[in-house]
Amino acid sequence: MVNSPSSQKSGYQRATVPVKRMIAGVLLGRLLRRVVVSNHVWIVAFHRVDDLAYPNPLTCGITQFEECCELLARTFRVVPLSQQLDRLGREDCGGTLSITFDDGYLDNFEHAAPILERLGLPATFFVATGFIGTDAVAWWDRELPDTPKWMSWDQVRSLHSRGFDIGCHTVNHADLGSLAEKDAERELLESRQRLCRELNTEIDLFAYPYGGPEHMNAENLLIVKNSGLRCSLSCHGGVNAINSDPFSLRRIPINSAGGETAKDIAYHLLRNMAPL
Ligand SMILES: [Zn+2]
Repeated sequence: MVNSPSSQKSGYQRATVPVKRMIAGVLLGRLLRRVVVSNHVWIVAFHRVDDLAYPNPLTCGITQFEECCELLARTFRVVPLSQQLDRLGREDCGGTLSITFDDGYLDNFEHAAPILERLGLPATFFVATGFIGTDAVAWWDRELPDTPKWMSWDQVRSLHSRGFDIGCHTVNHADLGSLAEKDAERELLESRQRLCRELNTEIDLFAYPYGGPEHMNAENLLIVKNSGLRCSLSCHGGVNAINSDPFSLRRIPINSAGGETAKDIAYHLLRNMAPL
């Protein structure tokens, strides 16, 4: 049987459509990378990496975390937060991303750090010093069927000796948007001093607890600036301009709600480019 011109055409179309789609996909990917990725400074925030309390608004499953890290490594130049701060205002800061963790959960040490090391990714762990080495149960974890544990000081020291950065997150996970100035000052100074003493090093990175715009006020931000800290990170979404103020840096939180696959996580990052 001889193919009619119309069937030949549809056969040709069948062969070229996937190629055209592939080329369009590559071009779109390059455009997105240039416009979206390269023109911004990215910081992501995790809390827990565990399958026990998964799904939970603060938790990332272990496999999801690994897939997320692989996506971040493929898409961005993942650098330590301290290096991002050094580069702020410079063109080569665009397209960088730093990975951060808040609070000091034990699963950060047990699950997240080995994955990060295997993938060669740097990260910063912001710990609430009053939780470390204790059985304290944070109010937001009280309803969980398995009470999450905190790292010990030896484990925090181990992370630091393995090249991860440790940052300040107050003593008692204080809401600096509502605390009186003298209490805010105590929370900041005591947590920083404790970290410096336990790790025998200078600590100058800071992420404010809860991380919403309402959880920091101008007076307490001034205390942060006068406390020897070099940055202040929120946690309510948004990306940063290359010349952003280091005391107004935004982070995109990632948890199980972000989805499972690399595509889900990429969509989550794009959706949260603007502050929530
Ligand atoms: Zn926190």
